[in-house]
Amino acid sequence: MKWFQEKLYGHHKQMLSMSAVLYHWRTEFQDVLIFENPVFGKVLVLDGIVQLTERDNHIYHEMIAHVPLMAHGSARDVLIIGGGDGGTLKEVLKHPVDRATLVEIDGEVIDLSRRFLPDVSGGAFDDPRTTVLVMDGTRYIAETATQFDVIVIDSTDPLGPGEKLFTPAFYRACRSRLRPGGVIAVQSGAPFFQPMELDQVCGRLAASFAGVRPYLAPVPTYAGGMLALVAAGASNDVLRPPCKVLRERFGALDGKTRYYTPEVHRAAFTLAPSLAPSPLRE
Ligand code: SAM
Repeated sequence: MKWFQEKLYGHHKQMLSMSAVLYHWRTEFQDVLIFENPVFGKVLVLDGIVQLTERDNHIYHEMIAHVPLMAHGSARDVLIIGGGDGGTLKEVLKHPVDRATLVEIDGEVIDLSRRFLPDVSGGAFDDPRTTVLVMDGTRYIAETATQFDVIVIDSTDPLGPGEKLFTPAFYRACRSRLRPGGVIAVQSGAPFFQPMELDQVCGRLAASFAGVRPYLAPVPTYAGGMLALVAAGASNDVLRPPCKVLRERFGALDGKTRYYTPEVHRAAFTLAPSLAPSPLRE
């Protein structure tokens, strides 16, 4: 049997068996591997790091999309930076938004995801509300005049092309592209193994946003089994509305999510002290 071995951290590796290798190629930006695993289904790997599996991607995509959208409550214009697999886009389009713009640096990730992982995007690329731009997210943010209600940074880790999406200047630029009441959500790594990444994202967002709160999503195939995300907006209260408010907003989504609920939204913001990022520790 062949095995894929992910080695993100010095003394920890995770392995997934490969019942079939479907695709392996180096694009202009990164190494892309797509294989099949008997438990997790098809797996997308970029530069040796698991990005998603068919079995558990809904947890990540629902939490990175629905938390900022439900916190906002009436988003019309949504921007996704990265997210070329289309999973976040699919979740965003479950809301009554007018437009969803996806800016992905690597067009081959979009093409390969549509070809090998069509259920992840589930037709979202063909939705009339979708605009896809193949370009660097930092360039897009610097050049666009469009204002958004919600911005989702669905990026790779801060290595390779994703590195630029973690800078204070990029967060400042995102802030300037948000309408009043706007909310941003950022993929922030595996909190047990990459506490520095979560610390940095929180600290850097806090320079541009009055409200910054980390939250967690359990994703079995991410190293350590947990992913950290950070939401930011005008205040901490905006990001974690009362359950009653979230339930009212949830109406249109009820039955369309498998992991996200208003109760999960609120609970996800409760971090054990040892996982809380240091800039936000009391
Ligand atoms: N679920 C994810 C994870 O495990 O981190 C993220 C998945 S999504 C595939 C990440 C995408 O971000 C990749 O397709 C990558 O090409 C894109 N990306 C990286 N840097 C970027 C940049 N500077 N601008 C736009 N997209 C970028």
